[in-house]
Amino acid sequence: MKASEHGHGEASERIDVAEFLGPPKLLGRDDKLATLAIKVNEGNPHLKIIDQKVCVACTEKPCTVTCPVQNYKVQDNGHTTIEWASCIECGTCRVICPFHNISWVYPTGGFGVRYRCG
Ligand code: SF4
Ligand code: SF4
Repeated sequence: MKASEHGHGEASERIDVAEFLGPPKLLGRDDKLATLAIKVNEGNPHLKIIDQKVCVACTEKPCTVTCPVQNYKVQDNGHTTIEWASCIECGTCRVICPFHNISWVYPTGGFGVRYRCG
C-alpha cells in the first residue's frame, strides 16, 4: 500500500534500512580509544592482579578475550598483565574473572575515562 493511500500526500519511497546503513563496521582497539578521553593517574593503577599464581593456574583466562579494548595479556611466564591506563571502566573484567582475582576500583580524583558527547 502506497503512502498516498493513507492520505499522507504524495507517495514516498520506502528506505531499505540495511542498505542505507551499509555493512556493520567493527571498531578496532585504537578506533575505540580514539573516541574517548582518558586522564591517566600515572603510577597509580586502579586495576591490579591480586595473585599471579591464580592467573597461571587459570586455564580459560576470560579476561583476555572479553575486555573490549584488549587490556589483558598473558606473558611468557604465565602472568597476566593489565594495560590499566587504557581502561574504559566497563566493568567486564570485574565480573568475568572466575576467581575474583582482580582488584578493581574506579579511578579517583577526576582521573579515568570521559565519554565524549557529540
Ligand atoms: S580471568 Fe582472572 S584469574 Fe584468569 S587470567 Fe584473568 S585475571 Fe587471572
Ligand atoms: S573494566 Fe573493561 S575496559 Fe577496563 S580493563 Fe576491565 S574489561 Fe577492560
